[in-house]
Amino acid sequence: MSNTKNIAVLAGDGIGPEVMAEALKVFEVLEKKTGLTVNKTFADIGGIAIDNHGKALPESTLKTCEAADAILFGSVGGPKWEKLPPAEQPERGALLPLRKHFNLYANLRPAIVFRGLAGASPLKAEIIGDELNVLVVRELTGGLYFGKKERGDDWASDNMIYTRAEIERIAHIAFQSARQRGKKLCSIDKANVLTTMVFWREVVTELGKQYPDVTLTHMYVDNAAMQLVRNPRQFDVILAENMFGDILSDEASMIAGSLGMLPSASLAGAPGKEGAFGLFEPSGGSAPDIAGQGIANPIAQILSLGMLFQYAFGMPEVYTQVHNAVQKVLSQGYRTRDILTEGTTLVGTKQMGDLIVKAI
Ligand code: NAD
Repeated sequence: MSNTKNIAVLAGDGIGPEVMAEALKVFEVLEKKTGLTVNKTFADIGGIAIDNHGKALPESTLKTCEAADAILFGSVGGPKWEKLPPAEQPERGALLPLRKHFNLYANLRPAIVFRGLAGASPLKAEIIGDELNVLVVRELTGGLYFGKKERGDDWASDNMIYTRAEIERIAHIAFQSARQRGKKLCSIDKANVLTTMVFWREVVTELGKQYPDVTLTHMYVDNAAMQLVRNPRQFDVILAENMFGDILSDEASMIAGSLGMLPSASLAGAPGKEGAFGLFEPSGGSAPDIAGQGIANPIAQILSLGMLFQYAFGMPEVYTQVHNAVQKVLSQGYRTRDILTEGTTLVGTKQMGDLIVKAI
């Protein structure tokens, strides 16, 4: 593996630059620990790019991303740009074209409740248990959302279609992720009703033979929606097609409580040992309501950096180090405002970043 990596850093708008600054401090420590040399190129994206270059995703930014091994993304958008035509607004004009350009077909969203944070979840503490960590792997570029759409005066239809290759490539990512975690994969379908989903189950089952160390189960999507709130701890990795994954990943992320805690990754390939190109970003947005106040939670951005090491550099052990450092700081009682509970110590964005750096 090459010891030099190139990363595009796109901080964006609102709290993006604030939380990115903390992730970059952590980056520096991780480079020292791993011996990697990482060249970081900074580029404008979203609202700031509209202000500086006239569009949300300038050519120069796209070129920076093309030359990189991965993209570390903050967040984009804010009230200043909301009056622009929808296609030119930061999120639609930057993030969606970026996903399309790099064919980021796999969306990975862990729903994590760290030890001591069960109180932030809307679920009862006894359901969350000591801690919770469920990863939803969602297919992002196929299925019902991208199938043929037709409409007449008195009817409309959307076509759900998946090819074997599309199912296999997303399933590989889910199996490989499970292998790096609890070695359990639950594939979601609706094989009792939809032909596409009968095929999905067949293909995933067949592929499972290549991963004998991962326990594969199948669950209908309606049951999965129920089980996620009844007993989320039964899950390790959940694999779902586009629409089911859209719904289930939102449901799973609500279990965690604050958006400020949730990282995500969108990948263009299975990571293997060498890693894969991907975009790594917090699940939340630019949080204009708290931007500029130094109170945003940087943990989602820092965990997104951990996922970058895991998936883009093929270093899952680094994700674990970052995760454990975050857990240590939380166990010491430090909290940003969004996760503050009685008896804990309030810290700002910078202090939280410094504490995590120290813990690593
Ligand atoms: P949001 O995620 O920005 O904020 C929702 C709530 O969560 C707010 O109360 C916010 O303060 C809180 N929050 C989010 N991240 C936090 C953090 N790190 N620490 C503490 N609190 C945090 O969603 P929104 O308000 O619906 O959207 C605001 C802007 O962000 C909009 O312009 C929207 O288009 C954009 N957006 C961007 C992305 C992205 O860049 N990927 C995603 C979603 C929304």
